Amino acid sequence: MSAVVLNGKDLADRMKEEMKSRVEALKKKGVNPGLAVVLVGDNPASQIYVRMKKKDCEEVGIISYEYLRDKTISENELLELVQELNDDDRIHGILVQLPLPEHISELKILEKIDPDKDADGFNPINMGRLLTGADSMLPCTPAGVMELIKLAGVEIKGRNCVVVGRSNIVGKPAAVLLLREHGTVTICHSRTADLGEVTKRADILVAAVGRANMITADMVKPGAVVIDVGMNRLEGNKVVGDVDYDGVAEVASAITPVPRGVGPMTRAMLLMNTLKAAER
Ligand code: NDP
Repeated sequence: MSAVVLNGKDLADRMKEEMKSRVEALKKKGVNPGLAVVLVGDNPASQIYVRMKKKDCEEVGIISYEYLRDKTISENELLELVQELNDDDRIHGILVQLPLPEHISELKILEKIDPDKDADGFNPINMGRLLTGADSMLPCTPAGVMELIKLAGVEIKGRNCVVVGRSNIVGKPAAVLLLREHGTVTICHSRTADLGEVTKRADILVAAVGRANMITADMVKPGAVVIDVGMNRLEGNKVVGDVDYDGVAEVASAITPVPRGVGPMTRAMLLMNTLKAAER
């Protein structure tokens, strides 16, 4: 079998086109959707992410407001900045780029973001809403994963879904979203015994671990849909996923590549959260 490639870049581009017209419609009503991006310190990877997010906003017509702060900013000063952004009517989405310097509690900052402006969907109130099935800002990567599964055209209801990884930003929320669609969900982690035996039962397999090529063809059920969240930088700067793409593509019915898979969808869902907040 040779798997269908679930191209996240193309899907994200299509979503951006659709968002562009929704942004236009809002602007005609006098609403200019705005995303505030807060970057603390000079982490090179964070700087790249922030630049990409700014470019994405420009593409769809969302105004991005950048708040660059030195790494010496105190926790209180950052909390005050978030409060100002909560109170600012120009701003519909707020994103504080993680990681933050060690002297600042990420949880405190995330809790401070107005849940209705929480573009990343990391505020514990949104996590709670997600768990209870209430309408909420969804965390971007798991929301992107769900769009890619939809693209594969498989029904989630009643299927065995296995998520490898249980982080708060990817694994756990992805599992909850699959459960919401009536999947039968198993979550695996570093203490899971006989991982391959569990993943081999998956009709839908989501890998969110951070270990290059760890999911090999012998761990995948023939015909499974495989979503690779992992982004692992190898020597020479090549980025690969958690799934051994070439081998698994021979077994799976559909698979996301890395790059051009989940990554572009994560960025598209950030725009979508901001747009939806502005529409509300
Ligand atoms: P974390 O490090 O927070 O979580 C990794 C998870 O993998 C943990 O739950 C850990 O288990 C589990 N794990 C580690 N080793 C194993 C193993 N040998 N077998 C089974 N499970 C294992 O990572 P994130 O969730 O933040 O990210 C995961 C990957 O996704 C990374 O590569 C990251 O770069 C990428 N990512 C990609 C995004 C995108 O847009 N494409 C967005 C966000 C992340 P335990 O809890 O027991 O420690």
